[in-house]
Amino acid sequence: MAENAVAVKDAMKEPIRASELDPKFKYQLIKLHGSEKLLKCFQCGTCTSDCPVARYSDSYRPRTLIHMARLGLKDRVLKSDTLWLCAACFTCTDRCPQGVEVASVIRVLRNLAAEEGIVPQVFKDQCSSVLQSGYAYKISELRLKKRDTLGLPPLPKGNPESVQKSLKGVSFMKNMENKGENDAKQ
Ligand code: SF4
Ligand code: SF4
Repeated sequence: MAENAVAVKDAMKEPIRASELDPKFKYQLIKLHGSEKLLKCFQCGTCTSDCPVARYSDSYRPRTLIHMARLGLKDRVLKSDTLWLCAACFTCTDRCPQGVEVASVIRVLRNLAAEEGIVPQVFKDQCSSVLQSGYAYKISELRLKKRDTLGLPPLPKGNPESVQKSLKGVSFMKNMENKGENDAKQ
């Protein structure tokens, strides 16, 4: 979970203070690719009722994320840990009667959160692993030996250099580099 992260449901229980509202946020969002139709949302709840993740979560509600973004609760929505639960299946986007590209809005919100360094630790760890080995998870020696014992072929070699080259200049990479420097200082 990202530092200071909050669940959407809990975040919406807190009274909203006028000082929290960023009236420009929604206008910033509609300029970004994928969230142009954000303001068309009329809060029908179809996205939440059809979302496979919401079905199994007490706190994940795409409709609420959209509402928070529209209200200008920038800090709350970007710090919401549930922002990272979306499986990007695009069911919500297909079903929205207003043509809001809900899954893309969530991607835009995640990108903004990542630019501010608000990324759950589990994804940071996965990113580090991909950058170092080309694999999302470190595969233990034991598992590699077991493959050998079972007569399975060796795993293809990862290509972290290619990944690093592709991601050069992306904000998230800068955040990861800063994280590495900060870790080294600790
Ligand atoms: S389905 Fe579309 S209009 Fe309805 S709440 Fe979700 S985003 Fe808003
Ligand atoms: S894209 Fe995300 S928010 Fe939309 S239905 Fe799938 S899991 Fe739910």
